[in-house]
Amino acid sequence: MDFSNYQYKTLSSLKFKKHVHKSIKKHRNIKFIKDTILNIRDEKKRVVVVGNKKNYFAKHVFDSRLTKNLFNEIRYHTFLKQHFVGWVIKTNKKKFDKNSFVFMDYRIRDEKSTAFTYVLPFKKDEALIEHTYFSKNECDKKVYEKYIKEYLKKYYGDTNYIIKKTEYGTIPMTTYPFYKNSTKNITKIGTAGGWVKASTGYSFKNCEKNSLKIVDNIKKQKDLRIVRKKRYYFLDKILLGVLSKYNNRGETIFYRMIKRNSTKKILRFLDEESTIFDILKITFSMRSVHFILIFFKSFFKKAL
Ligand SMILES: Cc1cc2nc3c(=O)[nH]c(=O)nc-3n(C[C@H](O)[C@H](O)[C@H](O)COP(=O)(O)OP(=O)(O)OC[C@H]3O[C@@H](n4cnc5c(N)ncnc54)[C@H](O)[C@@H]3O)c2cc1C
Repeated sequence: MDFSNYQYKTLSSLKFKKHVHKSIKKHRNIKFIKDTILNIRDEKKRVVVVGNKKNYFAKHVFDSRLTKNLFNEIRYHTFLKQHFVGWVIKTNKKKFDKNSFVFMDYRIRDEKSTAFTYVLPFKKDEALIEHTYFSKNECDKKVYEKYIKEYLKKYYGDTNYIIKKTEYGTIPMTTYPFYKNSTKNITKIGTAGGWVKASTGYSFKNCEKNSLKIVDNIKKQKDLRIVRKKRYYFLDKILLGVLSKYNNRGETIFYRMIKRNSTKKILRFLDEESTIFDILKITFSMRSVHFILIFFKSFFKKAL
């Protein structure tokens, strides 16, 4: 992929959180309360937020909870998980080019699944190396670690390293229509609002865009529900369907997608900024039997 017009950026969740808290604290009309929310009830004229400590009342609530009911309902839709383990390592040799990164490297992986490695350098001797799966179930941590070690041994051979930090995550990838759980007075946000892109498990860009849209809609006194455009839902559904039904085909699918479309078009798709024309071009560029099969099946089946 030609990334010459783009810059790779890392966001530290801790620093980001501190930054947000610091700026919010400047506003006296915002109060932080620590409580576990057990239930949220829309009584039309007001919303009741049932907390562990007490109840809260509001005209409008933004809700980031993933409830148990949700997981029961998701089962009736195509559902995979992006699950991964990452290590921030410091090496004894200057092995990394901090101006480039490795994106979805399929050379070392579990052949039965869509799984790959990222290498995201911070310095010449420091990088985050991550082994990621797009599949139905999480693995034992040792499995991801085995692939990370194998990758380091094969491609950075004579290098010694220390592990400075580890990270682990599971992110839902699903066609479940999250937006339906929002009401006029309750806006579901984040993962619970369907802001994670189904076919990739990425969410940051959607979070940024949707938050800005919500702020704009508050100012304009418009409806605060976020509904995705149907065209993204369509391609995500097929991509996720292919990954779900033929989980070892991820390498071919993403290879074709990247090889046959410009970087700009791919990034526009990931950022949910594609035109209908882009979406159709990407869809037709895949030209695979699996893709066509899932395309037709997706009209009749919710869960693939
Ligand atoms: C290690 C790691 C790396 C990642 N890297 C990327 C990446 O590179 N790009 C990307 O796009 N995404 C990435 N993600 C995913 C991304 O962080 C999530 O998709 C995103 O944070 C989801 O946002 P959210 O608001 O739904 O959930 P969260 O950020 O988890 O926020 C939910 C909030 O709701 C609160 N909450 C939930 N239930 C209750 C309750 N009952 N009562 C009170 N509070 C409650 C939680 O405490 C939490 O503060 C990564 C995730 C991890 C773990």
